[in-house]
Amino acid sequence: MPPANLPPPLPGKKRRIGVLTSGGDAPGMNGAVRAVVRMAIHNGCEAFAIYEGYDGLVKGGDMIKEMRWEDVRGFLSEGGTLIGTARCMEFMERAGRTKAAKNMILNGIDALVVCGGDGSLTGADKFRSEWPELLQDLVDTKELTADQIVPFKHLNIVGLVGSIDNDLSMTDATIGCYTSLTRICEAVDSVDTTASSHQRAFVVEVMGRHCGWLALMAGVATGADFIFIPENPPDSDWEEQMCRTIKKHRAKGKRKTIVIVAEGAIDENNNKIPCGMVKDILSKKAGLDTRITTLGHVQRGGTPCAYDRMLSTLQGVEAVKAVIEATPETPSPVICIVENKIVRRSLVEAVAQTQEVAKAIGEKDFNTAMKLRDAEFTEYYKAYRITTAAEQPDLLLPESKRLRIAIIHVGAPAGGMNAASRAAVAYMLARGHTPIALHNGFPGLIRHHSDEPLGAVREISWLDAEGWASKGGSEIGTNRGLPSEDIETVSNVFGKYNIQGLFVIGGFEAFTAVSELRKAREHYKSFKIPMVVLPATISNNVPGTEYSIGSDTCLNALIQYCDACRQSASASRRRVFVIETQGGESGYIATVAGLSIGALAVYSPECGISLKMLDHDIDHLRDVFRKDKGQNRAGKLILVNEKASKTYTVQIIADMIAEAGKGKFESRHGVPGHFQQGTTPSPQDRVRAVRFGVKSIQHIEEFAGLCKDEIEDDPASASVIGIKGAKVLFSPMENIEKKETDWHRRRPKNEFWMELKEIVDTLSGRPGYPAGI
Ligand code: ATP
Repeated sequence: MPPANLPPPLPGKKRRIGVLTSGGDAPGMNGAVRAVVRMAIHNGCEAFAIYEGYDGLVKGGDMIKEMRWEDVRGFLSEGGTLIGTARCMEFMERAGRTKAAKNMILNGIDALVVCGGDGSLTGADKFRSEWPELLQDLVDTKELTADQIVPFKHLNIVGLVGSIDNDLSMTDATIGCYTSLTRICEAVDSVDTTASSHQRAFVVEVMGRHCGWLALMAGVATGADFIFIPENPPDSDWEEQMCRTIKKHRAKGKRKTIVIVAEGAIDENNNKIPCGMVKDILSKKAGLDTRITTLGHVQRGGTPCAYDRMLSTLQGVEAVKAVIEATPETPSPVICIVENKIVRRSLVEAVAQTQEVAKAIGEKDFNTAMKLRDAEFTEYYKAYRITTAAEQPDLLLPESKRLRIAIIHVGAPAGGMNAASRAAVAYMLARGHTPIALHNGFPGLIRHHSDEPLGAVREISWLDAEGWASKGGSEIGTNRGLPSEDIETVSNVFGKYNIQGLFVIGGFEAFTAVSELRKAREHYKSFKIPMVVLPATISNNVPGTEYSIGSDTCLNALIQYCDACRQSASASRRRVFVIETQGGESGYIATVAGLSIGALAVYSPECGISLKMLDHDIDHLRDVFRKDKGQNRAGKLILVNEKASKTYTVQIIADMIAEAGKGKFESRHGVPGHFQQGTTPSPQDRVRAVRFGVKSIQHIEEFAGLCKDEIEDDPASASVIGIKGAKVLFSPMENIEKKETDWHRRRPKNEFWMELKEIVDTLSGRPGYPAGI
């Protein structure tokens, strides 16, 4: 019987797979190398690291090394690339590629995984297309014999996109871009406070020669006043436009100004817009005390963020699958991600499309440049513009279409709740709606007395919300209480304040609250209004989506905690940390954190914990430490969801391990608790919050002008916004409540991430256990 928790090795030819990292280093490259090496070994293949990028391939010798399982231990949390990278001029020439082909054959390597930017992938594509000719040259020049090349007729190449500026078309994210964005946002958040204190302006230059992704996302995440990106230069009167926007923000009471400039920023005529020029304009025309901050190599990132660890791991796994499944006819794939789905795309097409962007920019065809970026990029750009630009008279809706839309936070705080609210408010104001905050959740409404000066129902001004972009917690207050505590009063308050649309941000309670309001429409017509739930919870357990805002912030807090535990073990060695994670009845956080830190095992409520399971894992630990020759300096981690077992708490598990260790290894437990809610929300949570905040209000305003019964009759009038696979969609509550919700366990019936559990186990080397454990 195959092991219950591990996939059997994939059928197919056992390959000898080389992996290299090339071009600029990017955080997460090491995670990709680790995943390729271990997934290859798990599937009976051999893995080779090619050091220093294509340079190692051209030079051969000891720059190509077979990798054992333990050689990539500790790789996940390291920034940069541990196998080195280089810009290799020799590989640009055919002679260099011929040498590279010879070294591949001498080492018996018949498949290559290349992790790098578009240049590296262009090189990879060229290498594969020339491969038969390169082999023939080697035979003709007697470097190799005809017999030697026979087993290597077909070369398989798989691309992984490792690049901080997210410049490859056809993928939403490249390995490294979110870590880089994290460093940028940390820097902008830091200058933000000094800017505000002195009422200064800061011009921040970020990387991106042909791609404005980092500048755009930093602008969205930090609520910058103005951005410059290469794909979409500002109008010819940009100097006045920028000053008007900034003066308007200042006139409303904003004390600081942040302008973000991509290093490749240009005007309509392709003239560079340098930071110095922006600074001079802000100083002279807007009269602001202005400073420049150039972030430079800080943006290369250092320690990878949770997303980059996960992305690189999943893509490395997919790359090996692609190699094993490849036939001689299979075109080279590049592994991409679209929303939440890992997909294979044609490497040739992705590279060609990427180069088209640079070409379009060069030809001043900026419409095409924007179109060639993915749909998400354009959506973010529009969301940014709508929520920041000063004059947008064309956006204003006629009086008859303007709504009074309330925002309420429900449940525990989650990173991004404020960013979503801020974006929703800015969008509403741009459209002429009235944004209203319902403070402290439904209990706040129920306790509400309208004669109090600070009642629970208040209109939100632009300035109220302006500073919320990067704030953690909940600025309008949140509460777990549900409308059913006093639905009559809730209805009365809705009626009294003429609430015409409801935007609910929160976790499973938010979902439950909207379900209650929807069902109560039968008796209370004040609930016959459009309502949207934006899932926001660290547990990521809301039905109707695979991603809740706040979960990424939590993962980052958790891996920071785990990295610190690991490091503390480096002095004492041979220590097993058993760490309790939050997540309620959903093992998502534990599993994805486990994937991101390379946990030895993850215990989730979905699978529970049995004595046999513990016994099995303790046996494995004995084995690991028995064979240990000092490689386990950094200790081992086991993650346990808080509800995985009532009996086996982290303390008990740690004690059992320590007891079994008999002095050969020891164990400690840790409970990060509320630390997991994080402090400042992660950039990914912030940008997605903005995008979903705007989309949610756009959805609500579609119902403007309809009568109450028409609204009630449309199932989409009570919806959850979410990511499902490669799509962002609104799912009607009615369907999800009935078909997709496990009400008892407060989680979706089908949890998309369950398949990640076997990847955690496969890559940590946890032996499979028989079914029934
Ligand atoms: P980044 O996005 O960080 O710049 P990149 O992969 O685009 O990464 P490049 O310097 O363009 O970085 O390319 C890295 C290496 O890939 C080059 O030094 C060269 O060895 C190889 N390479 C790039 N373009 C080609 C090409 N057209 N033909 C052959 N090899 C190439």
